[in-house]
Amino acid sequence: GQCVTHCPVGALSERDDTDKFYAALADSKKKVIVQIAPAVRAAWGEELGLSEKDAAAGKIVTALKQMGADYVFDTDFAADLTIMEEGSELLHRLAEGEHKYPMFTSCCPAWIRFLKSQYPDMTDCLSTAKSPQQMFGAVIKGYYAEKLGIPKEEVFSVSIMPCISKKSEHILPTMADAGAGQDVDLVLTTRELVRLIRADHINPADLEISPFDSPIGEATGAGVIFGVTGGVMEAALRSAYFLVNGENAAPDAFKDVRGQDGWREATFTLAGKDLKVAVASGLGNARKLVKALRRGTVKYDFVEIMACPGGCAGGGGQPMKDGLEQAERRGNHLYFLDDISELRFSHDNPAVQALYKDFLGEPLSEKAHHLLHTDHHGWKMPREERMDEK
Ligand code: SF4
Repeated sequence: GQCVTHCPVGALSERDDTDKFYAALADSKKKVIVQIAPAVRAAWGEELGLSEKDAAAGKIVTALKQMGADYVFDTDFAADLTIMEEGSELLHRLAEGEHKYPMFTSCCPAWIRFLKSQYPDMTDCLSTAKSPQQMFGAVIKGYYAEKLGIPKEEVFSVSIMPCISKKSEHILPTMADAGAGQDVDLVLTTRELVRLIRADHINPADLEISPFDSPIGEATGAGVIFGVTGGVMEAALRSAYFLVNGENAAPDAFKDVRGQDGWREATFTLAGKDLKVAVASGLGNARKLVKALRRGTVKYDFVEIMACPGGCAGGGGQPMKDGLEQAERRGNHLYFLDDISELRFSHDNPAVQALYKDFLGEPLSEKAHHLLHTDHHGWKMPREERMDEK
């Protein structure tokens, strides 16, 4: 059928992949490992009649375990990892001196497709950091499987996302770096999660809260705000500040990038220089911003773009209610979760620190490049999926 949501990639139609999840659960040779994205926790309860307060992410963990999932992890961990890599990449780029165009965030696959099809000459402005979903998939199969005592070939890696575009991201030929098939085997949307819970006759009101599985259960408030427009930028600036100064800024020092305006800008001081940043959400705003950059009427160092208005909180895979208003409410909930988090900086995540210490070495290391970065030229935009403006 037609995509009836506010899905930014109009060509995609609603798909139901829940049967693939059941098939993996029924396969005794597979270990099913699930990751849950930040924005999912702000929306899954809406259709199930749970208040925001009652819709704790730990209840999704319980529901998935009841269905038969072997491990359930938090994508927030990989969001923190994305920040370590992307923040380091930004500092590296700034150290190179003046650039004509800014570095763009790369965690929204619909935005990447948009840029590659509409302004292919700007593809190299994208950060090479993979999205949290793909970083997670790569480290699960490429590192943690062995720690958990599972051959990586037996891992069936599932992600639950607010996003329909993630369904085309995980099958890209460039997203198979761990050497055991695709790094992420299946993507389910928040709506599909709700369908699974209903189909299994799980009463959401009865669900206990379970912790995410270790060793990567820990996450930070910086990882949580990935789900809201401006959140990636804010989290990256918190860590870039630390990397430059060796100490943390106040957690809310970069909150000028918050808000629901489709295109916002701010200037901060980093490494003794002015850092000009901009945040846009919605592809119409993205186009305006890119055109202004190309005309030279604006100049930025770092730009975050999310295809869905309001960011992933308003993603095309979320329960369908009135768009932007819901995105704003869910986004505020994510800021609340950040505010009450014990850890608010990605670099303070002990699981992230341990992963660098035990395996990756440091951000941008050879191993980090292999598993956590990607070549945006490694695949072509299929002609039929181009989003040409009529
Ligand atoms: Fe997906 Fe929308 Fe988030 Fe982009 S902004 S990653 S399309 S949910």
